[in-house]
Amino acid sequence: MSKALETTLEIDLRALTHNLNYLKSKLQPQTKFLAVVKAFAYGSDAVEIAKHLETLRVDYFAVAYTQEGISLRDAGIKTPILVLHPQAINAETLIDRCLEPNIYSAKLLNDFITTAEKQGQKNYPIHLKFNTGLNRLGFSHSDVDTVVKRLQSTSAVYVKSIFSHLAASEDLSEKDFTEQQIETFKSIAETFKTKSGIAPWLHLCNTSGILNYPEAHFNMVRSGIGLYGFGNSELEDKNFKPIASLKSVISQIHEIENGESVGYNRAYTSNRNERVATIPIGHADGLSRIYGNKKGFVFINDEKAFIIGNVCMDMIMVDVTDINCKEGDEVVIFDKIYTANEIAESAGTISYEILTALSKRIRRVFLP
Ligand SMILES: *Cc1c(COP(=O)(O)O)cnc(C)c1O
Repeated sequence: MSKALETTLEIDLRALTHNLNYLKSKLQPQTKFLAVVKAFAYGSDAVEIAKHLETLRVDYFAVAYTQEGISLRDAGIKTPILVLHPQAINAETLIDRCLEPNIYSAKLLNDFITTAEKQGQKNYPIHLKFNTGLNRLGFSHSDVDTVVKRLQSTSAVYVKSIFSHLAASEDLSEKDFTEQQIETFKSIAETFKTKSGIAPWLHLCNTSGILNYPEAHFNMVRSGIGLYGFGNSELEDKNFKPIASLKSVISQIHEIENGESVGYNRAYTSNRNERVATIPIGHADGLSRIYGNKKGFVFINDEKAFIIGNVCMDMIMVDVTDINCKEGDEVVIFDKIYTANEIAESAGTISYEILTALSKRIRRVFLP
């Protein structure tokens, strides 16, 4: 591993392979694997991650927005791509770029069919989402009848899969709720099969669903955070390897006297003589202002240094009074040892947020 001389996100592709293999070890051999690469592959780099996962032959990709799917197609990704949150306005583009929409409402179903028919499509793959308790996107059980009737009126599309999403798969105190979601999903799938005479693939589980509900893997599972190295529990985190390490460097050290302030709005005032290190990463890089004022920290020569004062757009200042360090020394915001979970939790958020917030201006380096 090289030493960071500027703010750098190091992506370890071998760790990605490890995480995929670990997740796959939880599946039946015939269960398909969908890799969720939305939000820039959770901040790492969707194209590079998808290319690597394509060589490992994942069955599907998913992104949230149409534009994310276009980027993957532009980069030459050939694997089927499910777009989890398209809009009616995207229908033509989806078809042009061979992207498969999640159809979650009657309006979207109608609009998509109309466009597919106009383009003379036959059996264009779509995926139907049903709401089983998350109350976010999806048809309800009672919609099956109208959905099936609409589908039977056209040959422009065909239903490749039926899916739903769990609300609390990582929280075992919500096991009853999750089991209820699983039952609801099964019964929706049954109704659909009876009324339509077809049996599309079924999928329900995200990363924590894969780990906690092996009985609910159905035909395919969808994993995001697990691929990037987090298991959403202390026990499972040990089985994963975080793929991203965010590193930076000390630009300058200031010696300040008792009573001096640091940064914008003078949000921090020292109560002793202190050494303050300035580091080139700020809220424009995705290190949000919530990490300011000692909520967040970095590691310098294996010592924890707290962020003092407000996070600036392009820098933070950290207290290094008791740390043996000098200008040019490496700074770790998170890596495999000091994980993104640590800093996220100390500021009351989750690894997903700090990872996906990392801005594109941070240099990405890929370790083979
Ligand atoms: C983001 C997302 C996932 C991935 O969830 P993880 O917890 O990151 O594994 C799976 N399914 C849907 C519908 C999603 O939106």
